[in-house]
Amino acid sequence: MATKEKLISHVLKDKSVGSRNKVTVVGVGMVGMATAMSILLKDLCDELALVDVMEDKLKGEVMDLQHGSFFLKTHKIVGDKDYSVTANSRVVVVTAGARQQEGESRLNLVQRNVNIFKFIIPNIVKHSPNCILMIVSNPVDILTYVAWKLSGFPRHRIIGSGTNLDTARFRHLMGERLHLHPSSCHGWIIGEHGDSSVAVWSGVNVAGVSLQAINPSIGVDGDGDDWKAVHKQVVDGAYEVIKLKGYTSWAIGMSVADLVASITKNMHKVHPVSTLVQGMYGVKEEVFLSVPSVLGNTGLTDVINMELKPEEKKQLEKSAETLWAVQKELVL
Ligand code: NAD
Repeated sequence: MATKEKLISHVLKDKSVGSRNKVTVVGVGMVGMATAMSILLKDLCDELALVDVMEDKLKGEVMDLQHGSFFLKTHKIVGDKDYSVTANSRVVVVTAGARQQEGESRLNLVQRNVNIFKFIIPNIVKHSPNCILMIVSNPVDILTYVAWKLSGFPRHRIIGSGTNLDTARFRHLMGERLHLHPSSCHGWIIGEHGDSSVAVWSGVNVAGVSLQAINPSIGVDGDGDDWKAVHKQVVDGAYEVIKLKGYTSWAIGMSVADLVASITKNMHKVHPVSTLVQGMYGVKEEVFLSVPSVLGNTGLTDVINMELKPEEKKQLEKSAETLWAVQKELVL
Protein backbone atom coordinates (compact mmCIF):
# COMPACT_ATOMS: atom_id res chain seq x y z
CA MET A 1 0.00 0.00 0.00
CA ALA A 2 2.89 2.34 0.73
CA THR A 3 3.81 2.27 -2.95
CA LYS A 4 0.30 3.27 -3.96
CA GLU A 5 0.19 6.12 -1.49
CA LYS A 6 3.58 7.41 -2.66
CA LEU A 7 2.52 7.20 -6.27
CA ILE A 8 -0.99 8.67 -6.08
CA SER A 9 -2.37 11.82 -4.41
CA HIS A 10 -6.13 11.72 -4.18
CA VAL A 11 -8.04 14.73 -5.47
CA LEU A 12 -11.48 13.24 -4.82
CA LYS A 13 -11.59 11.60 -1.39
CA ASP A 14 -15.04 10.02 -1.64
CA LYS A 15 -15.11 7.67 -4.61
CA SER A 16 -18.50 6.18 -3.83
CA VAL A 17 -20.06 7.22 -7.16
CA GLY A 18 -20.79 3.91 -8.88
CA SER A 19 -20.96 2.88 -12.51
CA ARG A 20 -23.31 4.82 -14.74
CA ASN A 21 -23.72 2.19 -17.37
CA LYS A 22 -23.76 -1.19 -15.70
CA VAL A 23 -24.97 -4.34 -17.42
CA THR A 24 -25.55 -7.68 -15.69
CA VAL A 25 -25.71 -11.07 -17.39
CA VAL A 26 -27.34 -13.82 -15.31
CA GLY A 27 -26.16 -17.27 -16.40
CA VAL A 28 -22.60 -17.84 -17.60
CA GLY A 29 -23.36 -20.76 -19.88
CA MET A 30 -22.84 -20.76 -23.62
CA VAL A 31 -25.40 -18.03 -24.30
CA GLY A 32 -24.46 -15.87 -21.30
CA MET A 33 -20.77 -15.84 -22.18
CA ALA A 34 -21.37 -15.18 -25.87
CA THR A 35 -23.60 -12.28 -24.80
CA ALA A 36 -21.03 -10.99 -22.30
CA MET A 37 -18.26 -11.16 -24.89
CA SER A 38 -20.34 -9.35 -27.51
CA ILE A 39 -21.27 -6.63 -25.01
CA LEU A 40 -17.62 -6.15 -24.02
CA LEU A 41 -16.33 -6.05 -27.59
CA LYS A 42 -18.93 -3.43 -28.50
CA ASP A 43 -17.98 -1.24 -25.48
CA LEU A 44 -21.56 -1.09 -24.23
CA CYS A 45 -20.96 -0.72 -20.48
CA ASP A 46 -18.53 0.64 -17.94
CA GLU A 47 -19.23 -2.28 -15.58
CA LEU A 48 -20.19 -5.86 -16.38
CA ALA A 49 -21.54 -8.11 -13.63
CA LEU A 50 -22.00 -11.86 -14.04
CA VAL A 51 -24.09 -14.18 -11.85
CA ASP A 52 -24.48 -17.96 -11.83
CA VAL A 53 -25.10 -20.73 -9.33
CA MET A 54 -22.02 -22.68 -10.44
CA GLU A 55 -19.43 -20.85 -8.36
CA ASP A 56 -16.21 -22.28 -9.85
CA LYS A 57 -17.36 -21.84 -13.42
CA LEU A 58 -18.46 -18.27 -12.61
CA LYS A 59 -15.16 -17.41 -10.93
CA GLY A 60 -13.23 -18.89 -13.83
CA GLU A 61 -15.19 -16.97 -16.44
CA VAL A 62 -14.82 -13.69 -14.53
CA MET A 63 -11.06 -14.18 -14.10
CA ASP A 64 -10.65 -15.12 -17.74
CA LEU A 65 -12.46 -11.96 -18.87
CA GLN A 66 -10.59 -9.81 -16.36
CA HIS A 67 -7.30 -11.06 -17.81
CA GLY A 68 -8.45 -9.56 -21.09
CA SER A 69 -9.14 -6.14 -19.51
CA PHE A 70 -6.05 -4.75 -21.18
CA PHE A 71 -7.79 -5.18 -24.54
CA LEU A 72 -11.16 -3.81 -23.43
CA LYS A 73 -12.69 -0.45 -22.58
CA THR A 74 -14.85 -1.82 -19.77
CA HIS A 75 -13.21 -0.80 -16.53
CA LYS A 76 -14.86 -3.24 -14.16
CA ILE A 77 -15.81 -6.90 -14.57
CA VAL A 78 -17.25 -8.60 -11.50
CA GLY A 79 -19.10 -11.78 -10.64
CA ASP A 80 -20.74 -13.47 -7.69
CA LYS A 81 -23.58 -15.81 -6.89
CA ASP A 82 -24.87 -13.12 -4.52
CA TYR A 83 -27.06 -10.63 -6.39
CA SER A 84 -25.65 -7.64 -4.51
CA VAL A 85 -22.94 -7.73 -7.21
CA THR A 86 -25.62 -6.71 -9.73
CA ALA A 87 -26.75 -3.62 -7.79
CA ASN A 88 -27.80 -0.58 -9.83
CA SER A 89 -27.62 -2.22 -13.24
CA ARG A 90 -29.22 -0.37 -16.14
CA VAL A 91 -29.84 -3.56 -18.08
CA VAL A 92 -30.05 -7.11 -16.74
CA VAL A 93 -29.90 -9.91 -19.30
CA VAL A 94 -31.21 -13.28 -18.12
CA THR A 95 -29.74 -16.30 -19.91
CA ALA A 96 -29.90 -18.74 -17.00
CA GLY A 97 -31.71 -21.99 -17.22
CA ALA A 98 -32.00 -25.33 -18.91
CA ARG A 99 -31.46 -25.45 -22.65
CA GLN A 100 -33.03 -27.67 -25.31
CA GLN A 101 -31.67 -31.16 -25.78
CA GLU A 102 -31.37 -32.47 -29.33
CA GLY A 103 -34.86 -32.51 -30.85
CA GLU A 104 -36.52 -30.95 -27.77
CA SER A 105 -38.93 -28.05 -28.34
CA ARG A 106 -38.50 -24.73 -26.52
CA LEU A 107 -41.95 -25.03 -24.98
CA ASN A 108 -40.89 -28.25 -23.27
CA LEU A 109 -38.43 -26.34 -21.07
CA VAL A 110 -41.06 -24.18 -19.49
CA GLN A 111 -41.68 -25.49 -15.97
CA ARG A 112 -37.98 -26.10 -15.22
CA ASN A 113 -37.13 -22.54 -16.16
CA VAL A 114 -40.14 -20.97 -14.42
CA ASN A 115 -38.87 -22.47 -11.16
CA ILE A 116 -35.42 -20.98 -11.75
CA PHE A 117 -37.01 -17.58 -12.53
CA LYS A 118 -38.88 -17.59 -9.20
CA PHE A 119 -35.48 -17.29 -7.55
CA ILE A 120 -33.69 -15.06 -10.04
CA ILE A 121 -36.22 -12.32 -10.81
CA PRO A 122 -36.98 -11.14 -7.23
CA ASN A 123 -33.24 -10.94 -6.57
CA ILE A 124 -32.65 -8.80 -9.64
CA VAL A 125 -35.55 -6.50 -8.72
CA LYS A 126 -34.29 -6.13 -5.16
CA HIS A 127 -30.89 -4.83 -6.29
CA SER A 128 -31.81 -3.00 -9.51
CA PRO A 129 -35.40 -1.84 -9.12
CA ASN A 130 -35.12 0.54 -12.08
CA CYS A 131 -33.38 -1.75 -14.56
CA ILE A 132 -34.56 -2.92 -17.93
CA LEU A 133 -34.96 -6.69 -17.91
CA MET A 134 -33.98 -8.54 -21.06
CA ILE A 135 -35.07 -12.17 -21.10
CA VAL A 136 -33.23 -14.66 -23.31
CA SER A 137 -33.86 -18.05 -21.62
CA ASN A 138 -36.33 -20.29 -23.41
CA PRO A 139 -39.19 -20.50 -24.03
CA VAL A 140 -38.42 -16.81 -24.25
CA ASP A 141 -41.92 -15.40 -24.86
CA ILE A 142 -43.44 -17.30 -21.94
CA LEU A 143 -40.52 -16.52 -19.65
CA THR A 144 -40.80 -12.83 -20.52
CA TYR A 145 -44.43 -13.00 -19.35
CA VAL A 146 -43.26 -14.86 -16.22
CA ALA A 147 -40.59 -12.21 -15.55
CA TRP A 148 -43.21 -9.46 -16.01
CA LYS A 149 -45.50 -11.12 -13.45
CA LEU A 150 -42.72 -11.89 -10.96
CA SER A 151 -41.03 -8.48 -11.20
CA GLY A 152 -44.07 -6.23 -11.08
CA PHE A 153 -42.20 -4.02 -13.60
CA PRO A 154 -44.13 -1.88 -16.07
CA ARG A 155 -44.33 -3.54 -19.48
CA HIS A 156 -41.90 -1.14 -21.14
CA ARG A 157 -39.08 -2.42 -18.89
CA ILE A 158 -39.56 -6.12 -19.74
CA ILE A 159 -38.21 -7.20 -23.12
CA GLY A 160 -37.81 -10.68 -24.55
CA SER A 161 -35.04 -11.17 -27.12
CA GLY A 162 -37.80 -12.81 -29.17
CA THR A 163 -37.45 -13.03 -32.94
CA ASN A 164 -34.52 -10.62 -33.16
CA LEU A 165 -32.40 -13.72 -33.78
CA ASP A 166 -34.92 -15.38 -36.12
CA THR A 167 -35.03 -12.17 -38.17
CA ALA A 168 -31.22 -12.08 -38.35
CA ARG A 169 -31.25 -15.69 -39.52
CA PHE A 170 -33.86 -14.82 -42.16
CA ARG A 171 -31.86 -11.86 -43.43
CA HIS A 172 -28.69 -13.94 -43.58
CA LEU A 173 -30.45 -16.63 -45.65
CA MET A 174 -32.11 -14.01 -47.87
CA GLY A 175 -28.69 -12.41 -48.36
CA GLU A 176 -27.18 -15.76 -49.36
CA ARG A 177 -29.88 -16.24 -52.00
CA LEU A 178 -29.53 -12.74 -53.42
CA HIS A 179 -25.79 -12.39 -52.84
CA LEU A 180 -26.33 -9.25 -50.75
CA HIS A 181 -25.31 -8.26 -47.26
CA PRO A 182 -28.01 -9.18 -44.66
CA SER A 183 -28.34 -5.50 -43.67
CA SER A 184 -29.57 -4.74 -47.22
CA CYS A 185 -32.14 -7.53 -47.03
CA HIS A 186 -35.28 -6.35 -45.27
CA GLY A 187 -37.74 -8.80 -43.84
CA TRP A 188 -39.32 -9.42 -40.47
CA ILE A 189 -40.00 -12.59 -38.54
CA ILE A 190 -42.56 -11.85 -35.83
CA GLY A 191 -44.65 -13.79 -33.31
CA GLU A 192 -43.27 -16.66 -31.27
CA HIS A 193 -39.52 -17.21 -31.10
CA GLY A 194 -39.86 -20.79 -32.14
CA ASP A 195 -41.89 -23.18 -34.13
CA SER A 196 -44.90 -20.92 -34.85
CA SER A 197 -43.04 -17.77 -35.87
CA VAL A 198 -44.52 -15.73 -38.72
CA ALA A 199 -42.63 -14.50 -41.79
CA VAL A 200 -44.14 -11.23 -43.01
CA TRP A 201 -43.71 -11.80 -46.75
CA SER A 202 -45.68 -8.67 -47.62
CA GLY A 203 -42.85 -6.55 -46.19
CA VAL A 204 -39.84 -8.37 -47.66
CA ASN A 205 -37.85 -5.93 -49.79
CA VAL A 206 -34.47 -4.81 -51.04
CA ALA A 207 -33.98 -1.06 -51.44
CA GLY A 208 -37.74 -0.59 -51.13
CA VAL A 209 -38.47 -3.03 -53.98
CA SER A 210 -41.09 -5.46 -52.71
CA LEU A 211 -40.25 -9.07 -53.50
CA GLN A 212 -43.94 -9.89 -53.28
CA ALA A 213 -44.67 -7.36 -56.06
CA ILE A 214 -42.11 -9.13 -58.27
CA ASN A 215 -43.13 -12.64 -57.20
CA PRO A 216 -46.76 -12.67 -55.96
CA SER A 217 -46.50 -16.27 -54.74
CA ILE A 218 -43.48 -15.58 -52.50
CA GLY A 219 -43.72 -17.56 -49.28
CA VAL A 220 -46.67 -19.71 -50.34
CA ASP A 221 -46.91 -23.17 -51.90
CA GLY A 222 -46.47 -23.15 -55.65
CA ASP A 223 -43.71 -20.52 -55.63
CA GLY A 224 -41.14 -21.75 -58.18
CA ASP A 225 -38.33 -20.22 -56.08
CA ASP A 226 -39.64 -21.87 -52.90
CA TRP A 227 -39.02 -18.89 -50.60
CA LYS A 228 -41.13 -20.68 -48.00
CA ALA A 229 -38.10 -22.94 -47.49
CA VAL A 230 -36.18 -19.92 -46.18
CA HIS A 231 -38.63 -19.50 -43.31
CA LYS A 232 -38.46 -23.25 -42.65
CA GLN A 233 -34.66 -22.97 -42.48
CA VAL A 234 -35.09 -20.17 -39.92
CA VAL A 235 -37.38 -22.33 -37.77
CA ASP A 236 -35.14 -25.39 -38.13
CA GLY A 237 -31.92 -23.37 -37.75
CA ALA A 238 -31.56 -23.70 -33.99
CA TYR A 239 -32.37 -27.44 -34.06
CA GLU A 240 -29.71 -27.93 -36.73
CA VAL A 241 -27.02 -25.99 -34.86
CA ILE A 242 -27.87 -27.82 -31.61
CA LYS A 243 -27.59 -31.14 -33.45
CA LEU A 244 -24.21 -30.15 -34.85
CA LYS A 245 -22.51 -28.40 -31.90
CA GLY A 246 -24.78 -29.08 -28.92
CA TYR A 247 -26.05 -25.54 -28.34
CA THR A 248 -26.40 -22.17 -30.07
CA SER A 249 -24.39 -19.24 -28.82
CA TRP A 250 -22.64 -16.79 -31.15
CA ALA A 251 -25.59 -15.43 -33.10
CA ILE A 252 -27.82 -15.12 -30.02
CA GLY A 253 -24.96 -13.40 -28.15
CA MET A 254 -24.46 -10.88 -30.95
CA SER A 255 -28.19 -10.30 -31.34
CA VAL A 256 -28.65 -9.62 -27.61
CA ALA A 257 -25.69 -7.21 -27.62
CA ASP A 258 -27.37 -5.38 -30.51
CA LEU A 259 -30.50 -4.97 -28.35
CA VAL A 260 -28.44 -3.81 -25.36
CA ALA A 261 -26.71 -1.25 -27.62
CA SER A 262 -30.04 0.22 -28.68
CA ILE A 263 -30.96 0.62 -25.00
CA THR A 264 -27.71 1.91 -23.52
CA LYS A 265 -27.05 4.24 -26.47
CA ASN A 266 -30.69 5.39 -26.60
CA MET A 267 -30.83 4.66 -30.31
CA HIS A 268 -34.59 4.40 -30.89
CA LYS A 269 -33.88 1.51 -33.26
CA VAL A 270 -36.70 -0.82 -34.26
CA HIS A 271 -36.20 -4.49 -33.37
CA PRO A 272 -38.49 -7.51 -33.45
CA VAL A 273 -38.61 -8.26 -29.73
CA SER A 274 -41.09 -9.84 -27.39
CA THR A 275 -43.52 -7.47 -25.69
CA LEU A 276 -47.05 -7.62 -24.26
CA VAL A 277 -49.29 -7.74 -27.36
CA GLN A 278 -52.65 -7.95 -25.63
CA GLY A 279 -55.05 -5.78 -27.62
CA MET A 280 -52.88 -5.79 -30.77
CA TYR A 281 -53.60 -7.76 -33.95
CA GLY A 282 -56.67 -9.35 -32.35
CA VAL A 283 -54.71 -10.91 -29.45
CA LYS A 284 -56.95 -11.06 -26.39
CA GLU A 285 -54.79 -12.74 -23.76
CA GLU A 286 -51.79 -11.54 -21.73
CA VAL A 287 -49.13 -12.96 -24.03
CA PHE A 288 -45.74 -11.69 -25.11
CA LEU A 289 -44.87 -12.00 -28.79
CA SER A 290 -42.38 -10.29 -31.03
CA VAL A 291 -43.46 -7.27 -33.03
CA PRO A 292 -41.29 -4.42 -34.35
CA SER A 293 -40.57 -2.31 -31.27
CA VAL A 294 -38.60 0.84 -30.55
CA LEU A 295 -35.78 0.49 -28.00
CA GLY A 296 -34.17 3.36 -26.13
CA ASN A 297 -32.77 4.10 -22.70
CA THR A 298 -36.18 3.99 -21.02
CA GLY A 299 -36.90 0.57 -22.50
CA LEU A 300 -39.41 -0.48 -25.12
CA THR A 301 -41.27 2.74 -25.82
CA ASP A 302 -43.31 2.12 -28.98
CA VAL A 303 -44.56 -0.58 -31.30
CA ILE A 304 -44.77 -0.21 -35.07
CA ASN A 305 -48.18 -1.19 -36.44
CA MET A 306 -47.49 -3.58 -39.28
CA GLU A 307 -49.93 -3.88 -42.16
CA LEU A 308 -50.44 -7.63 -41.90
CA LYS A 309 -52.29 -9.73 -44.46
CA PRO A 310 -55.28 -11.68 -42.99
CA GLU A 311 -53.29 -14.93 -43.23
CA GLU A 312 -50.34 -13.40 -41.31
CA LYS A 313 -52.68 -12.04 -38.66
CA LYS A 314 -54.26 -15.46 -38.31
CA GLN A 315 -50.86 -17.06 -37.79
CA LEU A 316 -50.03 -14.51 -35.09
CA GLU A 317 -53.31 -15.25 -33.31
CA LYS A 318 -52.46 -18.94 -33.49
CA SER A 319 -49.05 -18.29 -31.88
CA ALA A 320 -50.82 -16.35 -29.13
CA GLU A 321 -53.22 -19.24 -28.52
CA THR A 322 -50.36 -21.77 -28.37
CA LEU A 323 -48.54 -19.68 -25.77
CA TRP A 324 -51.64 -18.92 -23.72
CA ALA A 325 -52.50 -22.62 -23.54
CA VAL A 326 -49.13 -23.20 -21.82
CA GLN A 327 -49.18 -20.01 -19.72
CA LYS A 328 -52.55 -20.55 -18.13
CA GLU A 329 -51.34 -23.83 -16.61
CA LEU A 330 -48.28 -22.22 -14.96
CA VAL A 331 -48.07 -21.91 -11.21
CA LEU A 332 -46.17 -18.73 -10.47
P1 NAD B 1 -26.08 -23.53 -20.48
O1 NAD B 1 -26.52 -24.82 -19.88
O2 NAD B 1 -24.78 -23.49 -21.20
O3 NAD B 1 -26.04 -22.40 -19.36
C1 NAD B 1 -27.07 -22.15 -18.49
C2 NAD B 1 -26.46 -21.51 -17.25
O4 NAD B 1 -27.53 -21.13 -16.37
C3 NAD B 1 -25.53 -22.47 -16.48
O5 NAD B 1 -24.26 -21.86 -16.30
C4 NAD B 1 -26.26 -22.65 -15.17
O6 NAD B 1 -25.39 -22.87 -14.05
C5 NAD B 1 -27.03 -21.35 -15.06
N1 NAD B 1 -28.11 -21.39 -14.07
C6 NAD B 1 -29.00 -22.38 -13.84
N2 NAD B 1 -29.80 -22.04 -12.80
C7 NAD B 1 -29.41 -20.81 -12.41
C8 NAD B 1 -29.86 -19.91 -11.39
N3 NAD B 1 -30.86 -20.22 -10.59
N4 NAD B 1 -29.22 -18.74 -11.26
C9 NAD B 1 -28.19 -18.39 -12.07
N5 NAD B 1 -27.73 -19.20 -13.04
C10 NAD B 1 -28.33 -20.39 -13.20
O7 NAD B 1 -27.28 -23.07 -21.44
P2 NAD B 1 -27.18 -22.03 -22.65
O8 NAD B 1 -26.84 -22.75 -23.89
O9 NAD B 1 -26.35 -20.87 -22.20
O10 NAD B 1 -28.70 -21.56 -22.75
C11 NAD B 1 -29.28 -20.75 -21.75
C12 NAD B 1 -30.73 -20.47 -22.06
O11 NAD B 1 -30.81 -19.64 -23.23
C13 NAD B 1 -31.55 -21.72 -22.40
O12 NAD B 1 -32.83 -21.60 -21.82
C14 NAD B 1 -31.62 -21.68 -23.90
O13 NAD B 1 -32.72 -22.40 -24.41
C15 NAD B 1 -31.76 -20.19 -24.13
N6 NAD B 1 -31.49 -19.73 -25.49
C16 NAD B 1 -32.28 -18.74 -25.95
C17 NAD B 1 -32.12 -18.26 -27.23
C18 NAD B 1 -33.04 -17.19 -27.74
O14 NAD B 1 -33.02 -16.86 -28.94
N7 NAD B 1 -33.87 -16.62 -26.91
C19 NAD B 1 -31.10 -18.79 -28.05
C20 NAD B 1 -30.28 -19.78 -27.53
C21 NAD B 1 -30.49 -20.26 -26.24
